[in-house]
Amino acid sequence: QAKSGGRNGWRYFNDEMARSASERLVIEFDLRRAIVNEEMTLRYQPQMELASGRITGVEALLRWQREDGSHVPPDRFIPIAEESGQIIELGRWVLEQAVAARKQWLDEGHKHFVVAVNVSFVQFWRDDFVDEVRTTLARHGLPGELLEIELTERVAMGEPELAVRMMRTLKGLGVRLSIDDFGTGYSSLSYLNTMPIDALKIDRAFIRNIGLESSDEAICRTIIQLAGTIGIGTIAEGVETPHHLAFLAQNGCTAGQGYLFAHPLFGCDLPAELMRRGVTAPGHRSHGRQAPV
Ligand code: C2E
Ligand code: MG
Ligand code: MG
Ligand code: MG
Repeated sequence: QAKSGGRNGWRYFNDEMARSASERLVIEFDLRRAIVNEEMTLRYQPQMELASGRITGVEALLRWQREDGSHVPPDRFIPIAEESGQIIELGRWVLEQAVAARKQWLDEGHKHFVVAVNVSFVQFWRDDFVDEVRTTLARHGLPGELLEIELTERVAMGEPELAVRMMRTLKGLGVRLSIDDFGTGYSSLSYLNTMPIDALKIDRAFIRNIGLESSDEAICRTIIQLAGTIGIGTIAEGVETPHHLAFLAQNGCTAGQGYLFAHPLFGCDLPAELMRRGVTAPGHRSHGRQAPV
């Protein structure tokens, strides 16, 4: 619009900017009551091991429904919460909920999958983050092996040596670590090799273009090879078509997550999905993302 020039173009542009600035303030204001008002919930999206078709993980994803019934997508409110610091309280709530839910599923006999929690770099860099993870696991009696923490490449900016030390402490609790949205951020390939990471998550932006954009296919292959070289797994996000799946399986991707397999589910619907996929088969063990209990 702005490019077309003229009076109307600029007017539109300015109104749009003003709208988003005030919307931002409203979101920040409403976020303050969102948790106590019980407006936040978690969905759990299955992650499938491609070789076996088993669910080896579920990613916890935040959903916010405001008092007036409107939904605010996480891509809209998470960046605001990161800037305002509200992500600390939100993140603590998410970890608490996800660990509690995983413990309940464990008590119901579902042994072999991890719950993956997104952790913002703002949260990661708080002094008490590692302690918070330790005490949350202990309070619920959940083995660390059943928790995965998804970090982004941003955590390694600034103080990569310290980030690596913190990751080692988390690994000491048994927790799995993955790098989310890999390929979109500031990859420090030299540090990647020193980081105690279990998997790289290939961003949906690349998966989306499989079959459409040969350069994005090349990026997918490169990430899978890179992970293979350093001996870790790959999880593709946004797997939507059989063609995506075929490409990923052919190129040795470990796991996938996306609408082709399952949408993010209500926690109460997960056990049925696990049964349906045979993830809880007694005595089942396989390599990769299985967690011993
Ligand atoms: P993400 O961690 O990369 O999560 C994957 C996103 O892709 C999710 O969006 C998920 O619903 C969506 N998705 C999964 N499969 C498909 C598919 O096949 N097609 C399409 N089009 N989309 C798919 P969602 O839930 O809207 O979350 C967006 C982002 O918000 C997440 O990206 C993550 O960065 C952030 N986020 C969500 N929950 C949390 C949280 O508890 N804490 C933090 N710090 N960030 C969160
Ligand atoms: Mg994620
Ligand atoms: Mg992701
Ligand atoms: Mg993503």
